[in-house]
Amino acid sequence: MDDATARMRLETMLHELDRSIGVLRGDPVALQDRSAADAGADLTDADRTQAMIDAAKRQRTAVLAALKRLDDGGYGQCVDCGRPVPEGRLEARPEAARCVQCQARVERRR
Ligand SMILES: [Zn+2]
Repeated sequence: MDDATARMRLETMLHELDRSIGVLRGDPVALQDRSAADAGADLTDADRTQAMIDAAKRQRTAVLAALKRLDDGGYGQCVDCGRPVPEGRLEARPEAARCVQCQARVERRR
């Protein structure tokens, strides 16, 4: 995948993330209009919405970091070991910052 394609895909992702974060943020307001009887369910919905917002924000941060690597010329290299991130991995996840091995190591640390 060349840099121009990567940039285009990342910018599309960023745009879609911004839109879904906006939509999700609108949700709790709508939920507050419901009757008090639904309060328990509302809390669950609000928690779920918040979790989705958090996930979208994390992905947004990863996309922004990938765009910065494109600017800096480091795109497509693993941020941990410096080896090239496999093409297939970038196709599936253009925002990937690490090769599969380093990503697995990071996720084990969590
Ligand atoms: Zn690596």
